[in-house]
Amino acid sequence: MSDTALIDDKAKKAEFEANKLAKRLRHHVGDAINDFNMIEQGDRVMVCLSGGKDSYAMLDILLSLQKSAPIDFTIVAVNLDQKQPGFPEHVLPEYLASVGVEYRIVEEDTYSIVKRVVPEGKTTCALCSRLRRGILYRVADELNATKIALGHHRDDILHTLFLNMFFGGKLKAMPPKLVSDDGKHMVIRPLAYCREKDLERYAKVKQFPIIPCNLCGSQPNLQRQVVKDMVNDWGKRFPGRVESMFRAVQNVVPSHLADPRAFDFVNLKTGAVPEAGGDAAFDREEFREPATDGETSAEAPRRTISILDSRKPSAVAGGEACGG
Ligand code: SF4
Repeated sequence: MSDTALIDDKAKKAEFEANKLAKRLRHHVGDAINDFNMIEQGDRVMVCLSGGKDSYAMLDILLSLQKSAPIDFTIVAVNLDQKQPGFPEHVLPEYLASVGVEYRIVEEDTYSIVKRVVPEGKTTCALCSRLRRGILYRVADELNATKIALGHHRDDILHTLFLNMFFGGKLKAMPPKLVSDDGKHMVIRPLAYCREKDLERYAKVKQFPIIPCNLCGSQPNLQRQVVKDMVNDWGKRFPGRVESMFRAVQNVVPSHLADPRAFDFVNLKTGAVPEAGGDAAFDREEFREPATDGETSAEAPRRTISILDSRKPSAVAGGEACGG
């Protein structure tokens, strides 16, 4: 094969892989939106954009899904410029204008507040996040946004699960959909089924103009990094384990945990229907090898119409419109 043919062959393979990746991410986002009824007819989705790979990918995929979705919704991208030293102010406006999405850049100097209030050497993230959250809720009101979309992915959800177990004594992760702490907003995480390594590759393929996340000079969260390394190491050594762990988050059996608030053990009586697939009390459970196909949402109940489905809701007999 000549050099030119070899280069052509390589380029074709790279294009094929990039298309496969885009399709997979689109499907994961579409499935998550569908499973949790994240986006409904007439929604105005405020996409929070930090300038990192995840939020760029989220915006890109939502814009792509918007074109073929069986429902109408609008998107407004929002970036909070926290006035960190060296923040390249021009990058996001240029990118957002180039993709033709409505956007708002909010300038609030939380960096100075945090530096003033938090003693030297102490971690600044807690106050910084609180300030950012308050500003984003206010902006969501100003923009009449009905949903606030955050770019957390499957691995963030699993890392949070372990952090809560290891340091918080709680079996708690990061929900794909929740009501905000002020009770007024619906927060969604459309990347909930997406693997971080897919998002990293996607960012490279798409050449997003990434803004570094360490401009504030804060120490990285060491505990989170340790948990991330642990999960990544498991993923490498035990194929399918990470997928299985995520399926576990979607497949909770409160009667087989030990929280009397989650399950009424106190009033448990004989004659109750035993949990299918639950503990048989005397036998040791058998486990099969975890699946390695990367499918993360197999156990989740499916709604009738997917956002990936380009049919109009009226065309589906007896179907439920996505959030309709
Ligand atoms: S890393 Fe910096 S910008 Fe991010 S939450 Fe912490 S203090 Fe804020």
